[in-house]
This record gives sequence, structure tokens and C-alpha cells, in this order.
Amino acid sequence: MVVDAATNYRPYSPISIDRNAKGFFELLVRKYPQGQFSSQLARMEPGDQATFFGPVASRFEYRRGATPQIGLVAAGTGITPMWQVIQAALADSTDTTRLSLVYASKSPSSILLKGELDRAAAEHPDRLRICFLVSQPDPAPSGGTRMVEWEALPAGVQLGRIDEHVLRAHLPAAPDSARTERLEDACHVLVCGPDSMIRDLCGPRARDGGVQPGPGGAMQARHPAIGGVLRNLGYRSSQVTWL
Ligand SMILES: Cc1cc2nc3c(=O)[nH]c(=O)nc-3n(C[C@H](O)[C@H](O)[C@H](O)COP(=O)(O)OP(=O)(O)OC[C@H]3O[C@@H](n4cnc5c(N)ncnc54)[C@H](O)[C@@H]3O)c2cc1C
Repeated sequence: MVVDAATNYRPYSPISIDRNAKGFFELLVRKYPQGQFSSQLARMEPGDQATFFGPVASRFEYRRGATPQIGLVAAGTGITPMWQVIQAALADSTDTTRLSLVYASKSPSSILLKGELDRAAAEHPDRLRICFLVSQPDPAPSGGTRMVEWEALPAGVQLGRIDEHVLRAHLPAAPDSARTERLEDACHVLVCGPDSMIRDLCGPRARDGGVQPGPGGAMQARHPAIGGVLRNLGYRSSQVTWL
């Protein structure tokens, strides 16, 4: 989390996961020209300083064997916490957790970490499945005409948005509560993206910046009851973490 005053901060998820690399972490930040923090970060030069605070405790911490399947649902920069989980799970060759990622972007050229994700899926086809969705193709170079022409979509990338149909097809099925003793053991779903997506998929987000002081003063993610599409699909609050 980068801060510029006690009450003004933005969360960022490092894309490097080595906890022993003291004094080093790597961020992937998308610059929004009107964005207060991202534009400042983008202007930084070597030697400049920024104040970071963290790590912030999350309700979900990846642990090998905690659940056999994890669904990951991300849009835009929401991919960064998912990439942490993917790296942690795949780094351990004795881990058998299966991961299904649904990742939405504006266009093929705006898909973040595409090369890394493709490589991870190619190296672990039995453990990582990815559904890339885009709202539109990239425009082709104009060639002097005024008509907009579109590039073909890259292999594995589809036009579409994250909706009930897509999630039903790609996420681990919500366990049948009548037959599963500990539902949390069967699967877990992580969601990270813009507020509008969180609202549609999970119901309204707690509106206090997303964190509150927990026991002992540690910051904890606040977690309201599940709603939206994931609730319709049968997931319980305890099986879904939205960031
Ligand atoms: C758990 C979590 C992890 C995150 N991890 C990362 C990360 O690793 N990398 C990263 O780049 N971001 C990440 N974000 C988003 C980040 O926290 C900021 O919201 C983002 O950098 C914008 O902050 P800002 O101060 O630049 O924009 P603000 O000043 O808050 O917004 C100003 C304007 O910028 C534009 N804008 C801001 N955000 C968006 C958006 N998402 N889509 C379109 N326009 C926008 C809008 O025009 C908006 O009106 C994460 C968010 C969460 C919740």
C-alpha cells in the first residue's frame, strides 16, 4: 500500500513473492493520467522516495493443500494479487492445487503479465487454466484509410465480459452443500477488479477503503456477506474473497 498521508493511500500488490528478499519488492503499476498515486509513481526517478505500508493482512492467504481448487477472477490491474497466488502455487512441485483464472481486459494489448501467464499455463497445463476476455480487439494500423480496422484476436483470447455464463464454465463448481461436509475445503474463489465488477459478482464492497483495524491493531480486510453472480452460482461468503 502506498501512502501520502494517514488517510490517503492506495493498495498495490507486489508481483515479486520472495519474502526473504528484504528491502526489495516489484510493483506493476498502470498509470492513469488523472490518477493521483499512479501518475506520481510513474514520474518517479531512481533515488526518489515513496512511503509504503504493509503487508496488509488479507482474509485469504495461500496455503498449499488448504483447498484442492481455486478460482481466480480479475479485471485490469486486479491481476496482480492473482499472480502472487499463481506464482506461490506453481513454485511448489509437490502442490497439486488446480487454478482457474478468468481475466478481463479492455483489449489484447492491455492484458497485463500476458507472457508470464501464458508461460505458466504452458508449463503447468494440468494445474493452471486461463480464460482471457477482452472488450474489443486492438485497432489495426490505419494504412491511410479513415475506417477503423481491427487486429485478429490472439490465440486463447475471447471477446466478452465476466458474467454468470463465463464463471459457470470456468470456475470450480460451488460444492453441493447437502453433500460436502466442509464446504471451504472444496474450493475458494478470489476476485479483484474495479468496484463495478465487485458489485456485480460479489455484492457491494465495504465502503471504508476496504480495511479496518483488527485485533491488536493489525489491518484486516473487511468482508461483507456475498451477493451478486457468485451467490447465484451457489458460493458462500466463506468461499469467496474479494479484494
Ligand atoms: C487489492 C488491490 C490491489 C491493487 N493492486 C494494484 C497493482 O498492483 N497495480 C496497479 O496499478 N493498481 C493496483 N490497484 C489499484 C490501485 O490501488 C489504484 O486504485 C490505482 O493505481 C489508481 O489510483 P490513482 O490514485 O492513480 O487514481 P485516483 O486518483 O484514485 O483516480 C483518479 C482517476 O483515475 C482514473 N482511474 C483510477 N483507477 C482507475 C481504474 N481502475 N480504471 C480506470 N480508470 C481509473 C479515473 O479517471 C479516476 O477518476 C489495486 C487495487 C486493489 C483494491
